[in-house]
Amino acid sequence: ATDFGIEKALKELGVKDINDGTSTGSNNFSNGEVIESYSPVDGKLIGKVKTTSKEDYEKVMEASTSAFKAWRDIPAPQRGEIVRQFGNKLRELKEPLGKLVSYEMGKSLQEGYGEVQEMIDICDFAVGLSRQLNGQTIPSERPGHVMREQWHPIGVVGIISAFNFPVAVWAWNTALAWVCGDVCVWKGSEKTPLCSIACQNIIAGVLKDNDLPEGISCIINGDYKVGEFMTKDPKIALVSATGSTRMGRIVGTTVAERFGKSLLELGGNNAIIITPTADLKVVVPGAVFGAVGTAGQRCTSTRRLIIHESVYDKVRDAIVGAYGQIKIGNPLDENNHVGPVIDKDSVKTYLAAIEKAKAEGGKVLVEGGVLEGEGFESGCYIKPAIIEAENHFKIVQQETFAPILYIMKYSGSVENAIDQQNGVAQGLSSAIMTNELKEAEKFLSYAGSDCGIANVNIGTSGAEIGGAFGGEKETGGGRESGSDAWKVYMRRQTNTINYSDELPLAQGIKFDL
Ligand code: NAD
Repeated sequence: ATDFGIEKALKELGVKDINDGTSTGSNNFSNGEVIESYSPVDGKLIGKVKTTSKEDYEKVMEASTSAFKAWRDIPAPQRGEIVRQFGNKLRELKEPLGKLVSYEMGKSLQEGYGEVQEMIDICDFAVGLSRQLNGQTIPSERPGHVMREQWHPIGVVGIISAFNFPVAVWAWNTALAWVCGDVCVWKGSEKTPLCSIACQNIIAGVLKDNDLPEGISCIINGDYKVGEFMTKDPKIALVSATGSTRMGRIVGTTVAERFGKSLLELGGNNAIIITPTADLKVVVPGAVFGAVGTAGQRCTSTRRLIIHESVYDKVRDAIVGAYGQIKIGNPLDENNHVGPVIDKDSVKTYLAAIEKAKAEGGKVLVEGGVLEGEGFESGCYIKPAIIEAENHFKIVQQETFAPILYIMKYSGSVENAIDQQNGVAQGLSSAIMTNELKEAEKFLSYAGSDCGIANVNIGTSGAEIGGAFGGEKETGGGRESGSDAWKVYMRRQTNTINYSDELPLAQGIKFDL
């Protein structure tokens, strides 16, 4: 069987020779215990990585705090030039990096490439931004005075990321943080450590070529215990954490306790509302890709369909029919739609969720199950399932990070569907399928979807880098990527400048001496 070019990709990314655990990539001070990375694609060991001890962490912090002083001195457009070079390196290495993402995480090769493309796109965005970190001038109420607002680099940014976007989420944060003048310390997911090392190798090469301190970009390896070094460390000005709501609750409170800033990107429980005028040609691919793409392991994966009773049977049958066409198998083979989930724990959670849904009265429309036999040796290949359910079921209220789609009915007006859509603790992504202008606008209004992302006639899954990305409620409230998300990576300073010969006080206060 072909290895789909994985060996070659590992070599090109400089992560091939780390199997003995003695080398852990550039700018990486790790000397702790060794963790192993197994591919969910074929169950094979890909490599071993040394984790970061507390002592190693302190060395990383020395490197990054001293690099910060040098980096913030470099004008923002010149910092943008470094990000431009980084983007170009990603263009050159799109194929091997996309392959590694697919092989270590299990998403389809196309999605692996797509993730690298997102990195390239955010670099382009950040390069433009490097000339637009504008503050404003504000009229002063005092004669001979002016007020100004400036944006300054915030310092060391700690990035904690999830397994499901093992490279793009880092880039979303770091490309912006770098042009803003910050330096970054990244703890990627312990489930995808080689992706982190590959990325680190790429940026380390760019920094070296430009004679810049390696501390501008550091990685630390390991699980939540290594993450805690950063959340508890007052030297980390901003912690940007992507992952489960359970993680965010701990990280958010730990960082808040020391008055640090955090940017939280947590779980979703995303729904599509399907109204009587919805176009099935759009609904079926939108809902099916949303539910089964990345084996249901996107934060924006479609978890719930809320279908008007008048079209319920028709929509249900079309979607169940489409599930019959889905090919499950090696994600590096472009003929397959659905690859494995990340590990066997994930398989267990998925099986348990199906049982819980049944116990609460759910009716299984498309059976789930674990695939066995040739090609499925890793034990991580599962069948996407559809369950007819009700929104109040406990299991429907939770995010299960697997391809389980709950479908439910609404009757009457769109407000009833919006109530169901909003009737969960999470608030990331949402969509409505309708050709009725009034329904669409109602859904997008203040009385509509309560999510950070609300779409019309496209699904919930995936986003472009140009918009701010994130969600409300238990999704954590953070925004990353486009629009003005850059502001969180900077500190705001308000200046009042007096160019008169007098010293008038604000609000007309007199203080005569
Ligand atoms: P996870 O919460 O298990 O882990 C995420 C990261 O947090 C890992 O690097 C982990 O080591 C670290 N971590 C966990 N506990 C920590 C602690 N107490 N202190 C410091 N670090 C800690 O999540 P996962 O299984 O890797 O990813 C799946 C989850 O991520 C889903 O809930 C998904 O919705 C969410 N996610 C959200 C977004 C978003 O933008 N909103 C994007 C991707 C994934």
